[in-house]
Amino acid sequence: MTSSDCLFCKIVAGEIPHDTVYETDTVLAFRDITPRANVHVLVIPKTHQDTLAQMAGEDAASVAELFTAAGEVARLEGIDESGYRVVSNVGADAGQEVFHVHVHVLGAQQLGPVGPRRS
Ligand code: 5GP
Ligand code: ZN
Repeated sequence: MTSSDCLFCKIVAGEIPHDTVYETDTVLAFRDITPRANVHVLVIPKTHQDTLAQMAGEDAASVAELFTAAGEVARLEGIDESGYRVVSNVGADAGQEVFHVHVHVLGAQQLGPVGPRRS
C-alpha cells in the first residue's frame, strides 16, 4: 500500500532524491534532510503505515525488520560500538511530522538525556 500524497512513499518510489544508506526488499534507510546529530538516518518500511503503533498492531514482524535494519545502519555508519539512539515519534505530542512509519538512528556524538523534563 502506498499513499500518493505521502512524502516517504514518494522517496520509496524514487520521486524525491534521497541519500540511501541501506536497503532491503522491505526497508529503506536514508539520511535525514535536516540532521540533528552527526549521524542522522531514517529507517522506513517500503509499504505505507501511519505510525509505529499501527504497524505493531497489524504486522509485528515488520517492526522487527525495522529495528534489525536500524542496527545494520549503525554498523555501516561505524557507530555500533560507540553507541547510538533509535527514536520513533508517534503522534502530535512527540512532534511526528511525517505519517509514514520511521525510526531515527542518531549517533557519532554524545546524545545527552533521552527527552525533555516533565512539565
Ligand atoms: P518526524 O518528526 O516525523 O519523526 O521525522 C520526520 C523527519 O523527516 C524529520 O527529521 C525531517 O527532517 C525529515 N524529512 C522531512 N522531509 C524530508 C525529505 O524530503 N528528505 C529527507 N531525507 N528527510 C526529510
Ligand atoms: Zn507513505
